[in-house]
Amino acid sequence: MKCDHCGRQVPEGAFCTVCGAHQGIGVVNALDRPHHYAAHPGEHVAQPSVFTTLLPHVTHGKVHEFRYAFLVGVAIIVLLVATGLVVAALIAAIFLMPVLYLVYLYEAQVYRDEPALVVGVTFAGGLILGVVTTIVAGQIIGLKTGNNAGALIGYTVVLPIVQLILIPIPALLLRGRAGFPETIDGLVFGVTAGLGFSVAESIVRFSSVFGSLGIHASSSSWIYPLVSLAALVPLLHGSTGGAIAAALWRPHRDARAGALAVLGIPVALLACLAFYLVAQVLANAGLAPLIVLIYQALPVALLLVYIRFLVHHALLDEARDMGFTPVVCPSCHRHVMAAGFCPACGVAVRAAPRRAAAAATSGATGEAV
Ligand SMILES: [Zn+2]
Ligand SMILES: [Zn+2]
Repeated sequence: MKCDHCGRQVPEGAFCTVCGAHQGIGVVNALDRPHHYAAHPGEHVAQPSVFTTLLPHVTHGKVHEFRYAFLVGVAIIVLLVATGLVVAALIAAIFLMPVLYLVYLYEAQVYRDEPALVVGVTFAGGLILGVVTTIVAGQIIGLKTGNNAGALIGYTVVLPIVQLILIPIPALLLRGRAGFPETIDGLVFGVTAGLGFSVAESIVRFSSVFGSLGIHASSSSWIYPLVSLAALVPLLHGSTGGAIAAALWRPHRDARAGALAVLGIPVALLACLAFYLVAQVLANAGLAPLIVLIYQALPVALLLVYIRFLVHHALLDEARDMGFTPVVCPSCHRHVMAAGFCPACGVAVRAAPRRAAAAATSGATGEAV
């Protein structure tokens, strides 16, 4: 068939395999296809979903396994708190997201043939930066936040800006390396660095608590810090690192992806200030901790949605002009003849797990659509 949008002769299907445009009469915004996120076509681009955004190579079937694993982790943390094992709960909360993410890196083989280099530079780099930053910040700003205006500005404005600059650096060290040319590589490496940073920051911040609490402690006051440690802080640092690394990853982009990339640092800055400064102001004004916690999910969601728009348009941009190959689609499992996108479900071939992509291109012998 002939694509309605790029005019190329392409295999029959709901999506053009070359440009990714949604085919058919009456399809609104066919070229931008906002209802079919390029890394996960079942979702709208603007849906702030954590797992399909930060784990872009995970396939349709596998994403639930990560969701369940996270929920099991949360259940274990709740159980530990309920039985008074607060220190164990804190440690579990600190490591839950980073460990899941390392499993994802292994599952999807995002690092291709260089696991030690990629994980070493990004995760370990983030850890080291996190330890140094948090200790130095503690020395300079002092350990007390609250009424003191200097400490307030230090912890909720200066420190978040310093973190925002430092977190993407380990990922950006891999920028321009052969084998990792795509925006989603930058995203994943940035998230890894951010999670390394969040582990280190949380351990340093709670190290005094670990010693003084003893193994058993009263649990009621720990619920809010635990939610922050297990979800909000790793998500903020991970998506900050991911957004900035993804935005800076490629020197050349088309107009749309380029415009989105320019927004990376301003959006991350806005989200970090909203997360720390505004939340502290709300807390000081006497708002209930639960409300503050719910409010803090908003800047994280903003970052996630930004990442999705950037990655979506980057995939539509970068997947053009790939050669035709017979593949088994990792998302819908059909045997298809695909260039950049699966003609049946519209997933970007580059958002497939590396291992699956390699196996599919070498082993696919089934008839193509
Ligand atoms: Zn087309
Ligand atoms: Zn498909």
